[in-house]
Amino acid sequence: MYKNYMYRLYPSRSQKKRLEAILETCRRFYNDLLAERRDTWTNERRSVSKIEQLRRVKELKASNPYAKDIHSHVLQVVVTDLDKAFQAFFRRVRRGENPGYPRFKGKNRFSSFGLKEYGNGFKIDGRRLRLHGVGRVAVRWHRPLPSTPKAVRIIRKSDGWYAMFTCEVEPQVLPPTGREVGIDVGVASLATTSDGEKFANPKWYRAGQKKLRRLQRSLSRKQVGGKNREKARQAVARHHLHVSRQRQDALNKIIHKLIQEYDFIAVEDLNIRGMVKNRRLSKSIMDAGWGYFKERLFSKAAEAGRIVVEVNPANTSQACSSCGQLFPEKINLSVRTVRCSCGLELDRDVNAAINILRLGRSRWALTSAAAGVAQEAAGL
Ligand SMILES: [Zn+2]
Repeated sequence: MYKNYMYRLYPSRSQKKRLEAILETCRRFYNDLLAERRDTWTNERRSVSKIEQLRRVKELKASNPYAKDIHSHVLQVVVTDLDKAFQAFFRRVRRGENPGYPRFKGKNRFSSFGLKEYGNGFKIDGRRLRLHGVGRVAVRWHRPLPSTPKAVRIIRKSDGWYAMFTCEVEPQVLPPTGREVGIDVGVASLATTSDGEKFANPKWYRAGQKKLRRLQRSLSRKQVGGKNREKARQAVARHHLHVSRQRQDALNKIIHKLIQEYDFIAVEDLNIRGMVKNRRLSKSIMDAGWGYFKERLFSKAAEAGRIVVEVNPANTSQACSSCGQLFPEKINLSVRTVRCSCGLELDRDVNAAINILRLGRSRWALTSAAAGVAQEAAGL
């Protein structure tokens, strides 16, 4: 399996200029490729393929002096990135959602480029990272790489430059614990388990939100195009980064605990959830970074040999986890404890988490039964 490892880079002044220049050329190329796809569709009702656009790399290098010194792989990765954006767009269209068309990238909206073959465009050279067209860049190796990287992505964040290496690693399967859990994600707590454990929103959360609002107000008062506005914009971006790192840290701790303790984890399918539940809730899920949560949970689970199942969240908070009846009145966010005629009296989030676990179990039983049938049919 593949895992990503991120390290901070310390480019010199001239290396920074080169990195910025590469990023800018990539951004323009990305926008040109996007325009080609859009215009071809408008004029000819035809989709431009990735293969077709990969041919543009050679043309660009021959015609554009800025692109001449950029490694072809970097430009090929731009083509691939755009293709991925389109694949995701088509996938959401097929699922009946209402996705936004891939967007043109403004100056501050394009933040990384990639290389895909070790020794061809990038290489670790002593303590430094040698990058084609940039030179030997200083790296802070806060932990060793597990193996020779397959690929690297150079990323610009509001507080500096980073290298994200993709390495192949052996999965570290954890011993089974015989325990299962359902997770309800919420507003009052970050997450609640079917065992009754609550993960609180960290204390810094409110303070961070307050400071963010203050910085945003200050930004909106600055004159457009001015130097102070750029400074204020950077301050907002840095604070966003700070808050999102704190949040990821809190979520990583939850994920670590879940993976250590449970063999089987059922969570709500948050794609469906956004449609089912109210907007205020979906916004707070966005705030809390649940996209990140899910992605990390799945990758950590795969690594540890744990099972994660997603379930449809409809009615998980509206039904009794003991007898299955729907509660007579709608359970909104102000109701903290649910009561049922069968005698159940329980915290609303714990009740929902138990329902999620039950749905997860039956979903898993169905999919593994289907897999069994498929194996039989194949004579395995
Ligand atoms: Zn009941």
